[in-house]
Amino acid sequence: MPIETKYIWRNWEIVNWDMAIDHNLIHTLHYGGWVFEWIRFYDTPNWPKIFRLKEHIDRLFYSAKLFEMELSFTSQNLMDACVDLVVRNWINSGYIRPIIYFWYSKMWLYPKWAKLEIVISVWNWGTYLSDNPIKVMICKIRRLDRRSADMWAKVCGYYANSIVASLETHGKGFDEWLLLDTDWNIAEWPGENIFFVKGKQIVTPKLWSILPGITRATVIQLLKDKFWIIVEERNINPNEIFDFDEAFFTGTAAEVTIIWSIQDQNWKIINYNYEQDSISYMIKKVYLDVVKGNNQDYLGRLY
Ligand code: PMP
Repeated sequence: MPIETKYIWRNWEIVNWDMAIDHNLIHTLHYGGWVFEWIRFYDTPNWPKIFRLKEHIDRLFYSAKLFEMELSFTSQNLMDACVDLVVRNWINSGYIRPIIYFWYSKMWLYPKWAKLEIVISVWNWGTYLSDNPIKVMICKIRRLDRRSADMWAKVCGYYANSIVASLETHGKGFDEWLLLDTDWNIAEWPGENIFFVKGKQIVTPKLWSILPGITRATVIQLLKDKFWIIVEERNINPNEIFDFDEAFFTGTAAEVTIIWSIQDQNWKIINYNYEQDSISYMIKKVYLDVVKGNNQDYLGRLY
């Protein structure tokens, strides 16, 4: 069923849902130069609250800078717009999707003749992956190389590569897929970062061809604060997946999703076995308490 809510925020105005996009010659639609964010809000004991809104808006500004988008609003303006939209649509929990793009003008690649559009939508969307551990496959398509594109920006065009990866793996009995980078290191899933656990040691791919996830940063902090574990950020070779005891994904949508098994490109499968008190389950619980406003120490992360 298509998603739909009542109102959209578009260039400072509140408009009806079907007023979002209005021309097939929009520059960005042809060449992929859109930037966006993917933000979640939760029904907390103290009204719906948006998790780490400031950090998401800061990353949106970082992404917009890549295309030299000259924005006529401040990050506070956008934060206020997000809150306004959540309240007007009267939803307790869900997603906020701001997107900035070049409207239509000349059809040259150079985009700056076109005026900028900014649109924010919110909608209700429950669990993104699964509450249960999932099966993952390493696919052949590689994550784009940071030497060719700024992978720290959240650019819609980059996701064309992820769409092809999803087609490669769909219908093969896996829940999700994992991308290697062009140096043959584990990178990320197209919408999540990944962590591996071995005893009390936790590793995650270093910031190179991966998006610096806001959930990734939150989980690194929580592991330090709650379990005195310092996560090691380094290159991870795909052969290492067989040495680890546990693995999990992190992302705004997927929150903390536990990985049951990973199949490598030689069809070899590793199944991870989880005890009730495994680190993956414990960090998942702590994370959900934080985002849902049930942990007093981190209420400052909710807006
Ligand atoms: N990697 C990619 C490519 C993503 O699109 C996302 C989702 N934004 C993530 C990682 C996770 O980032 P975050 O925790 O900020 O949602």
